[in-house]
Amino acid sequence: MAVLRQQSAMENRHGPLTVVQLPCLQDNYAFLLKDEGSGTVATVDTPDADAIGAALNERGWGLDLILNTHWHPDHTGGNEALKARFGAHIVGPAGEDDRIPGRDRAVVDGDQVAFGGLNAQVLETPGHTKGHIVFHFADQKVGFVGDTLFSLGCGRLFEGTPAQMWTSLGKLRAMPPETVLYCAHEYTAANAKFALSLEPDHAPLKERAAEIERLRAEGQPTVPMTLSQELQTNPFLRADDPALAASVGLRGAAPTDVFADVRRRKDEF
Ligand code: ZN
Ligand code: FE
Repeated sequence: MAVLRQQSAMENRHGPLTVVQLPCLQDNYAFLLKDEGSGTVATVDTPDADAIGAALNERGWGLDLILNTHWHPDHTGGNEALKARFGAHIVGPAGEDDRIPGRDRAVVDGDQVAFGGLNAQVLETPGHTKGHIVFHFADQKVGFVGDTLFSLGCGRLFEGTPAQMWTSLGKLRAMPPETVLYCAHEYTAANAKFALSLEPDHAPLKERAAEIERLRAEGQPTVPMTLSQELQTNPFLRADDPALAASVGLRGAAPTDVFADVRRRKDEF
């Protein structure tokens, strides 16, 4: 998307955690993290080693840590080059077997990853891939959700079942609603069209869709988003909401079945 390429990096502060959001490739985001207390720097995923390397250089930052969410090449493609150039230590999901290039530490659900003076908890969220993980900085109320959750969407089920993904999304729904979520793709405008096709009269969704249209027209990102916003508007987080079930003709059905139906509709949209 040409519009996205024109976007420049955006910087957010969450207490001691600085997050630089860097547009990469077609529609990916890379996230550079700095713990302001210790000066430690990390990246969540490595879509583009050159773009990430240039952004680090611009700031005079090194790279201590690479945090991978899943094995797909648009998330790990820069691992080896960035490790060679900066000596970064690579933390990635154990559940992806040997598909994380250069991985130094394999993590599982409940593991803690120290990042300078800060700490990220690992949540396993299988569905998009079988070993996908999310990094939750609970003290800062920030989550890096990779391709598990998108704004108004969720990842395609390449390696998991709808039931698995619904369980995975349940772990995100359990975070405090004010949690700020960084997802790995700018898919929001297309997701909004799909969500509106299911629930054209859902007021919070209509409002959010208008906001998204305005942001994209200005070349602004729609990421990050808050969990509370997603809980109200994202159909994939609302499979247990009777209104959403009714909108797909599944009144009274189990949430897993509603979720599976919504995911199938999106694949065909
Ligand atoms: Zn992916
Ligand atoms: Fe991806």
